[in-house]
Amino acid sequence: MKSFKIAVLAGDGIGPEITQEAVKILKLVEQRNDVTFELVPALFGACAYFETGDAFPQATKDICDKADAILKGPIGLSHEESKNIPIDKQPERGALLPMRKRYNTYANYRPVSLPKELGHFSPLKPEIIGEGIDLIMVRELVGGLYFGAKETGVNDEGLRYVKETLEYDEKQIRQILHHAFKLASKRKKVLHNIHKSNVLKSSVLWNEIVEEVSPEYPDVEVINILVDAAATLLCLKPTQFDVMVMENMFGDILSDQGGGILGSLGLMPSACLGDDKAYYEPSHGSAPDIAGKNIANPYSMIGSVAMMLENSFDMHDEAKNIWNAMQGVFADGYSTADLSKPGAGVKMIGTTEFGDKVVEKLSQMPTP
Ligand code: NAD
Repeated sequence: MKSFKIAVLAGDGIGPEITQEAVKILKLVEQRNDVTFELVPALFGACAYFETGDAFPQATKDICDKADAILKGPIGLSHEESKNIPIDKQPERGALLPMRKRYNTYANYRPVSLPKELGHFSPLKPEIIGEGIDLIMVRELVGGLYFGAKETGVNDEGLRYVKETLEYDEKQIRQILHHAFKLASKRKKVLHNIHKSNVLKSSVLWNEIVEEVSPEYPDVEVINILVDAAATLLCLKPTQFDVMVMENMFGDILSDQGGGILGSLGLMPSACLGDDKAYYEPSHGSAPDIAGKNIANPYSMIGSVAMMLENSFDMHDEAKNIWNAMQGVFADGYSTADLSKPGAGVKMIGTTEFGDKVVEKLSQMPTP
């Protein structure tokens, strides 16, 4: 029997609510398969800061260091509440970026997927959704502006200023490109390279490396698109994309747009992969506006579990079952509040009911 240790960081806001549903699925997967999961909870984010004075405490680092994989809920506070935490200790700067750095999880996979049958969730017209949206954004996660040197001060003219550095070396670019090319090679063999080389020198180097790596994947066609044009085309013709690769900040912004074209960020799971460690998290934040109401969509968190089974535990068939179970719940006419308005002809369910229905569906599926 295989056995895996999973660090479970429920996080802030809706984090604990959607993590609870993901844990239900992990427990069912355990029952159905020849596998055991040791789930080790740990504090991470604002909750950790208020409890220990540190958003990523040493005890959590120790648990994550020993884990085979990390399941992380969203972290963070509302704009106003964030002011209760010193800037450098706030959840992203104090926990999220340090975790990405610690485990060098440089490859962030963010699927943007909506089958044709669920097209009504999207704000896009049916003719734009066509046979369905199914693309994956591959975002570089440990470089660029988010990790470069930062400086603030007062300049010679007495004005406050800020300086942030966007830095990449060729090794960082090459390693994320290999992820993207391999993925494209397994899918539709088209890779959209998202850049801004008309303005940014970082994109000029990025594109040079694309040209160097490309011959290693002769079956993959590369299509270069400026990031601003890509933002438009995601709305006008999302079905032209399959695998998209981009640097850190472009990926942060475009992937939220990905949630927008699906109809909700609640449909956005993700995998953050390093060579030795991986963690899995929804792409979205802690949604303080809906926390504690049992209305958050746990699809993103349960989908992150499916991505964990695929990428860390080699349980591809069971992962597929989880995706199908979730889609099956929607196909039965159920919806969480983020995806449908009352009176839209759907049966509205809450966070826990969605989790329960996924459990019900998955239980009915044959074990792989
Ligand atoms: P957000 O992603 O939390 O929410 C944006 C909108 O999407 C809100 O209306 C929210 O209700 C909705 N939403 C998000 N997830 C949902 C779900 N699962 N179900 C239904 N609706 C959902 O963005 P925000 O409000 O700008 O940020 C809130 C906090 O989250 C901030 O502190 C921010 O820094 C943090 N954040 C954390 C992460 C992370 O942990 N990786 C990522 C992004 C933002």
